Amino acid sequence: MNLPQAALQCLPAPAGAMARHATRQVAVRWGARVVHIGGDAPVMVQSMTNTDTADAVATAIQVKELAQAGSEVVRITVNSPAAAAEVEPIRAQLDRMGVDVPLVGDFHYNGHRLLADFPGCAQALSAYRINPGNVGRGARREDNFAQMIEVACRNDKPVRIGVNWGSLDQELLARMMDDNARRPQPWSAAEVLREALVRSAIDSAQRAEQLGLRGDAIVLSAKVSGVQDLIAVYRELARRCDYPLHLGLTEAGMGSKGIVASTAALAVLLQEGIGDTIRVSLTPAPGEPRTKEVQVAQEILQALGLRAFAPQVIACPGCGRTTSTLFQELAQKIESYLRDQMPVWRTAHPGVESMNVAVMGCVVNGPGESKHADIGISLPGSGEEPVAPVFIDGQRSVTLKGSRIAEEFQAIVEDYVRRRYARRRD
Ligand code: SF4
Repeated sequence: MNLPQAALQCLPAPAGAMARHATRQVAVRWGARVVHIGGDAPVMVQSMTNTDTADAVATAIQVKELAQAGSEVVRITVNSPAAAAEVEPIRAQLDRMGVDVPLVGDFHYNGHRLLADFPGCAQALSAYRINPGNVGRGARREDNFAQMIEVACRNDKPVRIGVNWGSLDQELLARMMDDNARRPQPWSAAEVLREALVRSAIDSAQRAEQLGLRGDAIVLSAKVSGVQDLIAVYRELARRCDYPLHLGLTEAGMGSKGIVASTAALAVLLQEGIGDTIRVSLTPAPGEPRTKEVQVAQEILQALGLRAFAPQVIACPGCGRTTSTLFQELAQKIESYLRDQMPVWRTAHPGVESMNVAVMGCVVNGPGESKHADIGISLPGSGEEPVAPVFIDGQRSVTLKGSRIAEEFQAIVEDYVRRRYARRRD
């Protein structure tokens, strides 16, 4: 399932944003599909499954859902022989379903053994995530890490060196704490921890290069769960290396807390030009789709003006002038409708992802905001005549009234999309 070029478009640098941190470019491949990370590639959205990888059917279904929602790379846990044995069948099932999203294997503790014992798994994955804090202790650590890098080199697979403060290399941290204690003016424990994360990531990447991995086959991440820590760590990584950086707040949490914390951290860094790929690590509420994390990641990039994924609905918050829920319902209906159409529109109507639709609650800001949008509707507030003028490309077009305003407005939007974003036949 190749995303069309329009969906991958990198918008011009938004006003106020700093120049992008210059990095090497890494190519993650599956078949004819190539996803680039870093360099001049648009900031890429990725996600991770929460199924048991040993359950090949459930995992393939979830990967497909995440890919259809717009995840450009999907990571799966490979934590046991049973999981490693199913990676090849999962890949084959995805290929049969026409889903060519690259898969990244997430390895901890036993990755060196799994990659050696399951060559089909090593081959079917498009990249490996290695956490240098979880590859063993003492001499075993170096050997295990080297074994995994050797498999990556042999299979020509890129690697994400992903450190995490929950599993930071404890030997490195202890050494740095000792060194710090000998400083005339010791750093705070938090500063040492941040430095240990940065150093663990960069040292491991350099070690991988010494072992033969190409520098343009390495992506770095250093995830923490605090917003200020994440910003400080990534600023330092960007200052000290040119590997592409994968951003994400680890254990962001559930619901609005997770969304707000991730957005706060990622927005600051992305605005500074730091970050080449992102994941929003949300804990789904029971019954909430896993694809929510993809939607939030896309919305962060679109809100910052870095990429466009789906038409935007501009809706007013409502106030004492809106006594009915009509405009809330209409805004919600239109938003879901636009998102639901995107899998088809993306191909049939390139450019539609940049469309703005305004749904406003009364005459105060309704006509003005609607005129600024590509297409907008100004609903009647309390005490106003029960009519809803529609504006198309800044001009008043028709006036809707009655009980079918939502359906009629939806039909107008559909017609507008068909006319304005018709695929050119060259
Ligand atoms: S547009 Fe009207 S209804 Fe919406 S917030 Fe403004 S005054 Fe209130």
